[in-house]
Amino acid sequence: MDTKTHSKPSVPAVKPAERVEAHEENPWRQAMEQLDRAGKAMKLEPFALERLRHPKRILTVSVPVKMDDGTVKVFEGYRIQHNMDRGPAKGGIRFHPQVSLDEVKALSFWMTMKCAVVNLPFGGAKGGVICDPKLMSKGELERMTRRYTAEISLIIGPDKDIPAPDVNTNEQVMAWMMDTYSMGLGYACPGVVTGKPLEIGGSLGRREATGRGVFYVTRELAARRGFDLRKAPIIVQGFGNVGSNAAKIFAEHGCKVVGISDVAGGLYDPKGLDVPDILHYRETHDTIAEYPKAEHVAVDKILEMPCDILIPAAMEGAITNVNAARIQAKVIVEGANGPTSNEADRILAAKGVTIVPDILANAGGVTVSYFEWVQDMQSYFWSEKDVNARLQDIIVAAFTDVYNIAEKEKVDMRVAAFMLGLGRLGKAATIRGMYP
Ligand code: GLU
Repeated sequence: MDTKTHSKPSVPAVKPAERVEAHEENPWRQAMEQLDRAGKAMKLEPFALERLRHPKRILTVSVPVKMDDGTVKVFEGYRIQHNMDRGPAKGGIRFHPQVSLDEVKALSFWMTMKCAVVNLPFGGAKGGVICDPKLMSKGELERMTRRYTAEISLIIGPDKDIPAPDVNTNEQVMAWMMDTYSMGLGYACPGVVTGKPLEIGGSLGRREATGRGVFYVTRELAARRGFDLRKAPIIVQGFGNVGSNAAKIFAEHGCKVVGISDVAGGLYDPKGLDVPDILHYRETHDTIAEYPKAEHVAVDKILEMPCDILIPAAMEGAITNVNAARIQAKVIVEGANGPTSNEADRILAAKGVTIVPDILANAGGVTVSYFEWVQDMQSYFWSEKDVNARLQDIIVAAFTDVYNIAEKEKVDMRVAAFMLGLGRLGKAATIRGMYP
């Protein structure tokens, strides 16, 4: 991670309040409840559901790292391949103190669902290391990344499992992973990870892809519901890769971003924030919390400020049974993975709030990761215009499928997205049959 990015705050988590129900804090249990709900709605074969309840492969590794003071610290890391029925496993790597086995299991399951919803020929995976990158030097991060990569090299590879960036990992981390893996082979293997720098096989458009996908689904929803997106006040919670690019792209399309927050603070202006100016400010400051030209709002209050569209783009568990009733937005577009608890989902549905679920809304990132992998495998690279046009085609098609299922089956869009993905996964599993 370069020093500039390193000194920036990690993607913010809204600290769960004390009254958040215990089961709401476990992402794996949340994910399995979502699976049950959708399985029931579509009367899926019990065996198909049962298989998705068990990740295919879980690898736990210890990652010894020589720290700058000469001591050795051993970090715990994971790589989970949840499902590979439809192709190689795919999903990011997270460096965060809150990483846990259950979190990575849930995130790998959501990757399986996400790739199926947008119909990419991939299964789902996720990885993580329990660490606080904010407290580590660049050298320590590089050594940790390289040792972690060497440990999981047993199961990753361009035909098997392709990591990518996630919370607190970036292009530099992907470059170290690609280099470490390639050194083991003796030749450059760009297809082993996506989200790389352009110079070593990255794709144009990958950096903005998740934010761009968030924009496309929101624009499609506005078209279907008949509201003017440029008149709908938007709040973006989280200012990492997803949140900052989403805010930028909405602003570029003439939309009114009234609220933004990062880990240290929130900004609000009902007349609309100057997003390019805030992005510019952020280049030279660790956080936007002290940005002088807007009202300051506490991090955990930004979600509850007046707006029409709320984009949670930080971590899981942002919207819970505690704060769901206070949300004022009419539409929630999930830029993060798992930001809304199931109890919050029910409270929001009763209030008539529409949720565009994570496995559709933030699928732009993995879609352009797929393009990057295809380009690497063919050693033939596309223009940014081509990348964005193909991304738009895939996201709009998936949105249309999900929206139509929701209308036809009279279910919310989360259940509809699960129905679409589970249908594809169920078919793949049935056609392949059971080994032996
Ligand atoms: N970490 C991102 C996600 O949660 C991207 C995964 C990828 O590109 O493989 O979708």
